[in-house]
Amino acid sequence: MSEVSVIGLGRMGMALAGALLRSGARVTVWNRTSAKAEPLVAEGAALASSVAAAVQASSVVVVCVADYQATYGLLEATQVAAALAGKVLVQLSTGTPKDARDGEAWAKARGADYLDGAILAIPSQMGKPESSIIVSGSATAFEKSKALLERMAGNVSYLGGQVGSASALDLAFISFVFGGLIGFYHGARICESEGLRVGDFGSMIADVAPAVGGMIKQDGDAIQVGTYESPESSLEMCARGAEIVLRQAREGRLDAVIPAFTQGLFRKGVAAGYGAESPGALIKVLREAT
Ligand code: NAP
Repeated sequence: MSEVSVIGLGRMGMALAGALLRSGARVTVWNRTSAKAEPLVAEGAALASSVAAAVQASSVVVVCVADYQATYGLLEATQVAAALAGKVLVQLSTGTPKDARDGEAWAKARGADYLDGAILAIPSQMGKPESSIIVSGSATAFEKSKALLERMAGNVSYLGGQVGSASALDLAFISFVFGGLIGFYHGARICESEGLRVGDFGSMIADVAPAVGGMIKQDGDAIQVGTYESPESSLEMCARGAEIVLRQAREGRLDAVIPAFTQGLFRKGVAAGYGAESPGALIKVLREAT
């Protein structure tokens, strides 16, 4: 028996299996395109001849493929589903909270103990202190897989029995990162339009990251308790700042799609009467829209 089977050897699955192997774990792997397993086999992994054989090989089965549909495509075959009984199934493919709830029901119906997780890192960070995996779902599944998860990532957090929690927090995180990234790309165009080095801009963002994190934390606390009064920076001030970024886009003949969207949202907040409040008050506009 292996200690863990990894199904899916894309960029992330390779990194997970690699981290497990380097930590000394006995690992079985399987991938649709089996040639991808070769470097792992050279490192000591066992290559399963089928998905069912991969499931049979270990008591903990980690799946990391493109999405949940691909997972079902692999695990729904009768002999695979039968092999899942009594196993711990850890789903690390990205999905929605509903995907996680459906996954839990699906696994339960086949007698498997289910944990749903999300990886807050890129493949080259796996197995290192800076990588994080968050999981939610069955407490017993977490107990049985905790030591293995800790070999894959430096930080492992169990968010409790509500199985959709990990994917909800993952999507919230992705939303934050993507918002930051598109803002960064527009910032890069501002730098280019003024002959500045985009690499220097990236370094500047890395330097101020803790301060940005502090602002976000303050906003999170304000939204949590619903207190937006006496702000250090007001929503109106943000709207004016967004206006200036938009004006520069026009003056510099840049694509204005990103600043126009940002400015439109802040203006909406001001028009709704929240201008004197803290920027987090914008959530009231977002709530009204649903
Ligand atoms: P990837 O490199 O594109 O690999 C996709 C994997 O899914 C491959 O193993 C692929 O098999 C398999 N696959 C896709 N469709 C399939 C199907 N219909 N049937 C069977 N296997 C199928 O993606 P990745 O970067 O490894 O990402 C895997 C998961 O991790 C995703 O859910 C992703 O969101 C999540 N994730 C990735 C990162 C990252 O930075 N890469 C970070 C956090 C989370 P083949 O090799 O045969 O094509």
